[in-house]
Amino acid sequence: MTAFSLTGQTALVTGANTGIGQAIAVALGRAGAQVICAGRSSLAKTVAMIPGAEALTLDFADPLAARDVFAQRQVDILVNNAGIIRRADSVDFTEADWDAVMDVNLKAVFFTCQAFARAVIARGGAGKIVNIASLLSFQGGIRVPSYTAAKHGVAGLTKLLANEWAAKGINVNAIAPGYIETNNTTALRADATRNAAILERIPAGRWGQPEDIAEAAVFLAAPAARYVHGAILNVDGGWLAR
Ligand code: NAP
Repeated sequence: MTAFSLTGQTALVTGANTGIGQAIAVALGRAGAQVICAGRSSLAKTVAMIPGAEALTLDFADPLAARDVFAQRQVDILVNNAGIIRRADSVDFTEADWDAVMDVNLKAVFFTCQAFARAVIARGGAGKIVNIASLLSFQGGIRVPSYTAAKHGVAGLTKLLANEWAAKGINVNAIAPGYIETNNTTALRADATRNAAILERIPAGRWGQPEDIAEAAVFLAAPAARYVHGAILNVDGGWLAR
């Protein structure tokens, strides 16, 4: 189906070594994209899963780490997936945990979008941005103040950038994953009480898998989503509908 084909497109996925980013990279590759797997850890495992994929070292400890990437080569699809989480009671939360999460989850997202858009606009081309938001783009959460602030920021930024860039040929959208089995949620799943409470509230009755997010990303990256701008697509087993 050509509306869902990414043949001839190059996609860059941040945080592609594991979890949701890895599943998205694999799915974009299956849809026909040339995939650049970016991250700070070894990307060898993901690259081996995708014919023709390449690895790119990007560490968003420097939120402007991607500043030169898009001027050097044409990228048509950007997936801002890299993210971290720090948990502590808000009364004890440190400035270091605030800054680390805001830098990777929000500041790096903005400046990577900016670098991508500058290159797309300079070549008079078209592009697709898919940001990975969260349920905590809409809800408060508990003991994760910098994560919640950053993910609310990602939702707002997605809409703002869509407003600025829709007419320039760039679709900016986001996915809000529900509770997905990855490293990000190991601590939650290890806590029997939290795990049971979460499961009980998910209408679909199960945790999500990274693959559940991946096909939604293919849709937002594909020609099928050409008139979708500033959307935040919930892929959450129904959590937010409850
Ligand atoms: P994950 O397995 O921990 O993956 C996070 C990815 O981000 C890893 O590839 C990680 O690399 C990378 N990353 C972290 N800091 C980085 C940095 N400084 N520079 C470059 N890459 C960095 O967790 P995940 O669940 O797949 O998370 C992916 C995205 O989904 C995140 O934005 C997360 O907030 C979001 N999300 C997850 C859930 C969920 O339930 N799992 C729900 C909503 C949203 P390393 O392996 O090297 O740390």
